[in-house]
Amino acid sequence: MSTSYAVVIQGGGPVGLACAAWLLQKNPALSLLLLDRNPEEDQTIKTGDGRGIALSHGSKLLLDTIDAWPDQCPAIHQIHVSQVGRFGRALMTREELKQEALGHISRYRDIHLSLRKALRTIQKNAPHFVWQHAITDPVPVFETACLVHAEGGLFKEQDWTESGRDYQQSAIVGTVEVEKAIPHQAWERFTHEGPLALLPSHLGMNTLNLVWCGLSDASKRRLELNEAEFLSELQNSFGNRLGRFKSISNRRLYDLGLNYRKEVCEGNEVWIGNAAQTLHPVAGQGLNLGLRDAYLLAEKLAELFKEQKEFRLSTQNNMVEATLQDYAKSRAIDRRATIGITDFLARVFTSPLAPVELSRGFALSTLQWLPPIKTALARQMMFGRR
Ligand SMILES: Cc1cc2nc3c(=O)[nH]c(=O)nc-3n(C[C@H](O)[C@H](O)[C@H](O)COP(=O)(O)OP(=O)(O)OC[C@H]3O[C@@H](n4cnc5c(N)ncnc54)[C@H](O)[C@@H]3O)c2cc1C
Repeated sequence: MSTSYAVVIQGGGPVGLACAAWLLQKNPALSLLLLDRNPEEDQTIKTGDGRGIALSHGSKLLLDTIDAWPDQCPAIHQIHVSQVGRFGRALMTREELKQEALGHISRYRDIHLSLRKALRTIQKNAPHFVWQHAITDPVPVFETACLVHAEGGLFKEQDWTESGRDYQQSAIVGTVEVEKAIPHQAWERFTHEGPLALLPSHLGMNTLNLVWCGLSDASKRRLELNEAEFLSELQNSFGNRLGRFKSISNRRLYDLGLNYRKEVCEGNEVWIGNAAQTLHPVAGQGLNLGLRDAYLLAEKLAELFKEQKEFRLSTQNNMVEATLQDYAKSRAIDRRATIGITDFLARVFTSPLAPVELSRGFALSTLQWLPPIKTALARQMMFGRR
């Protein structure tokens, strides 16, 4: 095994895998090392994190380029947004946005698995690619022209904090069964504690993915409730639009906050995905943004290392730094917009202050009655800023 590589990617989550796949698709001759904490076989991932993730239409287009679109991904045709106990609601439909779908829902583990599969296929034509599994601490250090950090992580579990906000919220995720769901409809209901989302799942029309954001202490308490008590609180918070809540399974808790790096590159190192920014899930943007990071970085690095034969660690430094600076500049607007919108929604739509509740009623009504604003917002969520 070579001990020096043009590129080393640290982190085999969805963003690290996607970046490796795009890099090798564009430049199969690249000497690339992927350091992955997960074992080589898929078994632990298959039974792992099953939280529902909203993938934007833009992410679908990107994942399709490497044949990494997960198999079972129900489409969202409309999104219903409302707030508990106050006026104001908005309905976004695929027809008004002239799209086949507003987004799709997959489970974290299914996205992870489909990306692993895609990378294995691409690997067959990549003679200088090394995929090292089951990495443990201390992470081995290799000589490289460019180190890509894709270690991801969850809020409060990361070993770095730079700028951001603790919303003092946690999310309970799980799978709920309801009496009468509307096919292909996603629901986002703003409660005084945080947003409560119900998203389609591939498990059947009346089985939905729950992401219920609430105050941290209240969420921890709800996690421990028995099923009947939990369903009763959920019903009270969401209301009766879907009939009766019948069951909940696979409950898990995640702390929520914003943690982002002001600078995403330094020397020959670059940070992408959750290693660069960890967002509140209110707008379902974290992974979508991370995939856009991975795609653009792969494009720039593949181009830089096009002439693999001329690759020399010692002479490449300035060019790598310039490429990473260029990458950071190109990502700045999309990052700023996505972080900004997500932070705004997480704060404004969860404030219990009466004037804020009133203005968000107006905001939802405005969204409903001013299609250009609604379309602009939806487009940012679907494709990001390019
Ligand atoms: C409740 C909740 C709901 C969400 N919903 C959505 C949604 O609807 N839409 C959306 O787009 N996003 C959503 N997100 C965000 C999304 O999950 C993340 O943005 C996404 O998982 C980031 O992917 P990643 O690969 O950067 O990081 P991760 O998914 O954290 O993966 C990182 C990987 O790197 C590994 N690793 C860590 N350190 C090292 C190391 N030193 N060496 C090697 N490997 C290492 C880890 O083990 C892990 O496998 C949600 C998040 C939460 C918490």
